[in-house]
Amino acid sequence: MERLQALRGMVDLLPPQTMVWQQVEAQARQHFQHAGVGEIRTPLLEATALFARGIGEATDVVGKEMYSFQDRGRRSCTMRPEGTASVVRASIQHGLLSQGPQRLWYMGPMFRYERPQAGRQRQFHQIGLELLGVADERSDVDAIALAWDLLADLGVQGLQLQINTLGTPEDRRCYREQLVGWLEQRAHELDPDSRRRLGSNPLRILDSKNQATQHLLSGAPQLLETLGKGSRERFDRVCQLLQALDIPFVLQPRLVRGLDYYTHTAFEITCDQLGAQATVCGGGRYDGLAAMLGGPPTAGMGWAMGVERLVLLLAQQVKASPPQVVVLNRGDTAQVSALVLTRQLRRANLHVELDLSGAAFARQFKRADRTGGGLAVIIGEQEAQVGVVKLKWLHQTPQQRGSGLAMGEEWTVPAAEASGTVGRLLNGEPRAQSQAEPTPV
Ligand code: ATP
Ligand code: MG
Repeated sequence: MERLQALRGMVDLLPPQTMVWQQVEAQARQHFQHAGVGEIRTPLLEATALFARGIGEATDVVGKEMYSFQDRGRRSCTMRPEGTASVVRASIQHGLLSQGPQRLWYMGPMFRYERPQAGRQRQFHQIGLELLGVADERSDVDAIALAWDLLADLGVQGLQLQINTLGTPEDRRCYREQLVGWLEQRAHELDPDSRRRLGSNPLRILDSKNQATQHLLSGAPQLLETLGKGSRERFDRVCQLLQALDIPFVLQPRLVRGLDYYTHTAFEITCDQLGAQATVCGGGRYDGLAAMLGGPPTAGMGWAMGVERLVLLLAQQVKASPPQVVVLNRGDTAQVSALVLTRQLRRANLHVELDLSGAAFARQFKRADRTGGGLAVIIGEQEAQVGVVKLKWLHQTPQQRGSGLAMGEEWTVPAAEASGTVGRLLNGEPRAQSQAEPTPV
């Protein structure tokens, strides 16, 4: 029979990879909690119209990357390709935008039909932040600092913040005319993709990954030069605030978002260890989006990070924590006692591994040693019959030294007290303060 495989670009995450993911997720959660940002969870499936309007028909994402289909009720549905449109949709739907500024974050899978490669998948994950209802420049810098500090806290090295301003829609209309004029004279030098965009989404050409086009663009007019005074001053202020926070940045005049509701600040954070897929985080201000989705005009600033790219950077740094207790057992009665005790210990919040091999004790000890575990609980048939267990340290630890139980020494305790005794030993308490030695049977 043909063996079924995951779809192209859809990736299974297995241990120990999931451990790195859990660490990233835990750190993000804590980071946002400290910053007064609440978590929002929106559906993976949305009406196609949300993204057509919220991201724009002329973008790659909507034009050729969406997973869209008709459901059984003949509604056009799309697996979400990004989070911002959904978060703004939900904020409008639940009336959040009339309740003052909203600070929201999310984490979860996104879907884009792209060519899979390292750091680029069809199902991938983003951690994202959206700050709604504050137009002030400080909000731009607050958002950028939250991204920058999360990456730094995770221990990601070699980061670079690239920043640009898109000005107001009016600034951009003027610039678009200039740019299109300039590009039309050089249309024959453009790659086919960019030539197509000349009519639909010319600003996106600036973002082209084609080398020759990039080279050509180095001489193109720049948006910064056509900005109105207000936009110019606002951008200067953002740069000053970044300096005040000691966040280094470089100006990247070709960093753009192609759509009208994007305004002012646009930024990306890249990492020099990621090869071709260097951008870990992208974001910017989108003051026109809420109105575009039928809500009240509301300022917005946000970003999204690619979790796969983050994990690629962190994979080597995370180590599994060893079990605190390993339960070794052999014999019919012993196996039952071991199962019972293991459950007790786990319910007492300890990390416990139970050996289910039924192998000789020598083999079980070898395995236990390899886990790096602290304390061994040994239950043989004889111990089980009389209701005791043996305790023995597997490795030298501060708790071992504190316990007064020497390496290599075995200590027999009543099975009924085993759980409490193990807990005390792992707490660093000396053996003498534990209960009295049972009389050998
Ligand atoms: P790219 O230019 O790499 O395609 P993008 O501009 O499409 O990126 P955004 O929509 O800004 O990306 O998404 C934010 C972040 O999500 C990116 O910086 C990247 O880290 C991550 N990302 C985007 N698409 C993918 C994907 N297909 N697989 C993995 N991560 C992705
Ligand atoms: Mg993309």
